[in-house]
Amino acid sequence: MKMTSVRLLFIFLTTSLLTSSTALSRGIVEEGYYLFDKQRLLFDQIKKQEDLTIDHLGNAGYEVYGPKGVGEWLRSVSEIYDVKMMSLEEETKATPFNNYPSHEEITQKLFDLQAQYPEILHITSLGKSKNGRDIWSAKISSNVKVDEVEPEFKYIANMHGDEIVGRELMLLLIEDVLNQYEAGNRTIRSLVNNTEIYIIPSMNPDGASSRRRGNANYVDLNRNFPDFTRDRDSNPQNRELETQAIMAFQAQRKFALSANFHGGVECVNYPWDTKKEHFPLVDLARLLSVEYAQEVPGMVNSRQFDGGVTNGYDWYPVKGGMQDWSYYWFNDLQVTIELSQTKWPNYQTIPQYYNWNRNSILRYMTRVHQGVGFKLSSDISGDVEIIQGQNLSLGHFSFSDGEFYKVLEPGQYKLIITEASGRERLVETSVTAQAAEFTPNYVYLN
Ligand SMILES: [Zn+2]
Repeated sequence: MKMTSVRLLFIFLTTSLLTSSTALSRGIVEEGYYLFDKQRLLFDQIKKQEDLTIDHLGNAGYEVYGPKGVGEWLRSVSEIYDVKMMSLEEETKATPFNNYPSHEEITQKLFDLQAQYPEILHITSLGKSKNGRDIWSAKISSNVKVDEVEPEFKYIANMHGDEIVGRELMLLLIEDVLNQYEAGNRTIRSLVNNTEIYIIPSMNPDGASSRRRGNANYVDLNRNFPDFTRDRDSNPQNRELETQAIMAFQAQRKFALSANFHGGVECVNYPWDTKKEHFPLVDLARLLSVEYAQEVPGMVNSRQFDGGVTNGYDWYPVKGGMQDWSYYWFNDLQVTIELSQTKWPNYQTIPQYYNWNRNSILRYMTRVHQGVGFKLSSDISGDVEIIQGQNLSLGHFSFSDGEFYKVLEPGQYKLIITEASGRERLVETSVTAQAAEFTPNYVYLN
């Protein structure tokens, strides 16, 4: 059907109206819709609206979130193009909450496990959500209360409150690792003894409690982080409490590898999300993603994503997401793992999701040992340039507390360390694809 100029004018008017009235509400996700826009007739127009958020672009259509009133606007433009749409709130209400634990029950569970395994599990709160719920972090490591010189790894889930599978898999993972450690599983023991593992089952407990994407302020937390294409530094000011909690935590630690669990489709998404230009470690990021996806049936058999993986930007651009922020400002390689087609599946199916993902979840954690670092005798800061092979510079990275660690592809490396005082040192070392047992690969320098 051809559009008349009257219709085009109408679209233009409604487009500008929406933009002007809600220019200050970027990342607000009060309403959510699924648009069955197979041919992407509305896609470019929606993408232009800075206050709208597109997610999970697929063969059948995509999700659109925005402030109150976005449904009305979408309905008016959808009708013109004859595109069907569905309210995601109504869809959620139609499926029962069905036995998912409450925030209080999860809290109890975590502290029960800590009482059972006090030597290797330590629960701390990273801060409170808007409605006063603790954002729990579970640290798993030997000598768990000591900050040892070991690679630091992090899993974080449920930043979108209605994407619940990740939270449940993290609870199962914590219990599984503790039990396997106790049972003497060699790989798990080696991993726990040589790694500082942090697991945050729910970054958005308020969203999870009300089964919605945003936090209690209806803000999309995966659009709320500093973005290197528009922000000059990683400044927590004027961000949501949940975002601030994660930012403060990241700044205190030295994570080298992490993943962020979502739901709504099955795939692994690697950086960048915010721009087309190649991510500096794109081969490594893709390899780790392929390795994760290859054992998960819904990923490796995906009809949408070749091998179950995609570059973030190639799928759809995201501004203010966590994965780009994590690498750009903190040298923490992060991928985004989408675990389930259904965001809130029947609770009985959770163990099945765990079985599908278990090997990949564990193996990905061990990959933090595919790297190299150094530890100086004093807690100074400085800069390190990493040279791969003879002369390929991978760039400059800052270090602090006399400590640095980075996940890299297997190979030979030179580290040119420049201390804040100007003193320079050269370290030649290698990275190997790690085996079943791990030794933290640090060079100790006096
Ligand atoms: Zn999500």
